[in-house]
Amino acid sequence: MSQFPTDLSTGPPSPEGSAGPPTPPIHPSPLSTSGLQAHAPRWYSVALATPRLGPLTYAAASTPTPKWEEQSTTPSGILAPGDWCIAPLGKRALLGLVLSVSDTPPENLSPDQIRPLSPIRPQLPALSERTRSFYAFAATYYHRPLGAVLATAIPPYLQRPVGYAPKSRKPANSRAHQLPSQAGKSSGAQALPVIEPPIDPLTKEQSSALQAIAAQLTETLRDQPSSPLLLHGVTGSGKTRVYIEAMHALWQAEPDAQVLLMVPEIGLTPQLENRMCKAFPEKTLVNLHSGMPEKGRAVSWLMAAQGVAHLAIGTRLSVLTPLPRLRLVIVDEEHDAALKQQDGLRYSARDLAVYRARQENALVILGSATPSLESLARCEDGAYQRLVMSRQATGAQRPPVRLIDTLVTPATDGLTQPARETIGQVLASGGQALVFLNRRGWAPVLGCESCGWVQHCGACLTPMVLHRVSRRWRLICHHCGLQTPAPQACPDCGAQDVGPIGRGIQKLEDTLQRAFPTASILRLDRDAIGSVKEMQAAMQAISQGRVQIIVGTQMMAKGHDLPGLRLVVVADADQQLLHPDFRAPEWLLATLTQVAGRAGRHTSLPDTQGTNSPLAEVLIQTRYPQHPLFRALVENTTEAFVRRLMEERRAAGLPPYGHMAIVRLADRDQDRLRAWAADLHRRLYAWLRDQRRQPNADPQWSEAQVYPPAPDYPERRAGRVRWHLVVEGPTRKTRAQIVGQVEEFYASVRTTVDLVIEIDPLSQS
Ligand code: ADP
Ligand code: ZN
Ligand code: ZN
Repeated sequence: MSQFPTDLSTGPPSPEGSAGPPTPPIHPSPLSTSGLQAHAPRWYSVALATPRLGPLTYAAASTPTPKWEEQSTTPSGILAPGDWCIAPLGKRALLGLVLSVSDTPPENLSPDQIRPLSPIRPQLPALSERTRSFYAFAATYYHRPLGAVLATAIPPYLQRPVGYAPKSRKPANSRAHQLPSQAGKSSGAQALPVIEPPIDPLTKEQSSALQAIAAQLTETLRDQPSSPLLLHGVTGSGKTRVYIEAMHALWQAEPDAQVLLMVPEIGLTPQLENRMCKAFPEKTLVNLHSGMPEKGRAVSWLMAAQGVAHLAIGTRLSVLTPLPRLRLVIVDEEHDAALKQQDGLRYSARDLAVYRARQENALVILGSATPSLESLARCEDGAYQRLVMSRQATGAQRPPVRLIDTLVTPATDGLTQPARETIGQVLASGGQALVFLNRRGWAPVLGCESCGWVQHCGACLTPMVLHRVSRRWRLICHHCGLQTPAPQACPDCGAQDVGPIGRGIQKLEDTLQRAFPTASILRLDRDAIGSVKEMQAAMQAISQGRVQIIVGTQMMAKGHDLPGLRLVVVADADQQLLHPDFRAPEWLLATLTQVAGRAGRHTSLPDTQGTNSPLAEVLIQTRYPQHPLFRALVENTTEAFVRRLMEERRAAGLPPYGHMAIVRLADRDQDRLRAWAADLHRRLYAWLRDQRRQPNADPQWSEAQVYPPAPDYPERRAGRVRWHLVVEGPTRKTRAQIVGQVEEFYASVRTTVDLVIEIDPLSQS
């Protein structure tokens, strides 16, 4: 696969000067304004690439300069919908997208109030109508202005009109774009050795998955709608190979087709990328993620947008990249929370990928060993087709799972005696051990150290969260807002040791180092590993056997192939089990399945322990060995457990059977915020009651819910107090109507309270 052009000495970066194939005109600008007189005044409705603004009206550039004309694809500097412009806003100049053109000024503004556009035009490929309507959908669905979508979709480098600003007196294309030679280069320069010999025959399960994929691909290539596919394959079942074969089939039929391959984490791309490069040496590959150098990302984006790149591998933001010849979208690890943006636009890249594929007549494949309940529900109702791969491609067996009851065998400093012994044995036999502890971003749960008691909210059945409210400890339900005082002693067993549950990974590393002083230990979490490079180095150290014990968080659970790993110890998952969110068990199951899947992926391990010992093993330390989630892992009945979760969700009207939104509120003043939140809730509640009481009221309103406001955890951040309010509707439409009420109310009052709406939130707080 060819790499990026490494030197684009003319800019703004344009792939035309690159080594790629000649670029056909991808977006011939529709000359919708060609009937207008060349110099008649024109007014443009423009969406600016900035998060909070709706479209603004601008006048045509006052003096279409030669510069303008040179760079225009339309005659006489006339812009058409989909064209880009530079628009003044206050003292700034922002990148703008032309939405519509009119030869009469808007009624509510006099022409002299309307500012002209900058006479300089960015050299970005015009946005096709399809991409514009995709962006418009994203804006509407997530209740954000179109500008917020643009601000997310366009790489910062291409948004910055530095070189375009009229002040600079330099034509935009004189900017020197000395791309650092690394820029845009795929980060897989020294990628890891790939274990897979690509000549292996496909497994039976891979073949039948590919048959189903080929059938849908045929529809796609005939421009017929295809069914989204959920590739539900256990870790090690060879999903990547299936992706490669699917691309192969596509490119045989349509060599210029574009493929978007999305992954949740940047850390996963080097390995994947390396395999793609090997499989398709003649194709052009680009990366799209926020961790790359700005210019490199801009070049990649342009190559994708102009149809030059055949394969774009990216994180969630890549879903918004224009891809004029898109035919196949693959979302790997589709269940992963990292595919959802947690600030700004707060979009789900998986959900947008599915929408986009349908809109563009592309095929979408969602891959996971532990699919989201959302995707499973779509398979259930027939909207998606599920392809199952239940065996490891290498023929390796799933490692057995053993539970260690920490109420019987208490852990000292986080590790039980059986766990210590097993780690010792594995190290002695030359194997590697992974000790897993996920301690990031989980709010403390109050529990009893002696008996395992935890306070649950009676209405929501989720554990309550410990808060400090006006210098008192309170338990608050994050779903419904219910508050109770925190007990001093355990209401179940009377013990005094009630406190926040759990300890962190750094302490565990210390424990391990003291227990195994001669072992070399590597800690892998976001604090220890900050870049793709560091991750690669760590993986190299592990695969070369320079590490005996890996202590890792979530980061370790994903994707990585660790041939020498013979033991996984889950040090403590109880806090996650008790996390106050209805998705907690789903996520924990996914995490533990993934982390367990790191062990025993290869049959070729030397078995120094004799034939009766398992090649690899998973140990879970828990106070709740009877919990159905752990039982399911031991008994290999996770599918039944997932079905049970789905029934619970259905009964409770929770996603994927209900549709949720969170109204997020923030203000400097706590009292003001509380009062405002209470007021909002009262109004919404009254409105909802009115809907229910109408003659012939739609029964959906009785299923809709507006919950009382609750504080975030932590309630105060960066000097601002934050509360939220959950709303639920049985359909997307109901939810949109409730959210519409929130927006209407917010627009009608003057307040210092900041309000943001999040659609399909992953967590309730
Ligand atoms: P997944 O993404 O489903 O976890 P991978 O694609 O990483 O699985 O494959 C797991 C392992 O199985 C890899 O080492 C890969 O090389 C190997 N593999 C994939 N397909 C085959 C096959 N058809 N025959 C033998 N080994 C295979
Ligand atoms: Zn107790
Ligand atoms: Zn509750």
